[in-house]
Amino acid sequence: MIKKLIKTNEEWKRLLTKEQYKILREKATEVPGTCAFSTKQEGVFHCVACDNPLFISSTKFESGTGWPSFFEPYSPESIILRKDKSVGMTRTEVLCARCEGHLGHVFDDGPPPTYKRFCINGIVLKFVKGEKRK
Ligand SMILES: [Zn+2]
Repeated sequence: MIKKLIKTNEEWKRLLTKEQYKILREKATEVPGTCAFSTKQEGVFHCVACDNPLFISSTKFESGTGWPSFFEPYSPESIILRKDKSVGMTRTEVLCARCEGHLGHVFDDGPPPTYKRFCINGIVLKFVKGEKRK
């Protein structure tokens, strides 16, 4: 089980940049293309707020959306999925399992083997080059 990292909004405001706070705590979406992580290097993408490993480079694919896209999480325990009906349609929200920060959404139009597309805001990811899945 993942050990939770729970902080108040005031504490998060001090730790995060304005853009990171808006996405993680207020569920905003970054402008597509601003942080798409075009890197092809091997490594692990962590949560910028709590350092939880979220996605691994080998599961990243080019979705053409302008947001970093992955076909599966680092591990099933890395993330939480929650129904989101905020914009008049039902989507599945992806949250960090450790700090419960908003990361993005998951859709069913991804590539094999999972056919999932985790559409994630790059601003809330921290890339650790050379790290491998534990
Ligand atoms: Zn987190």
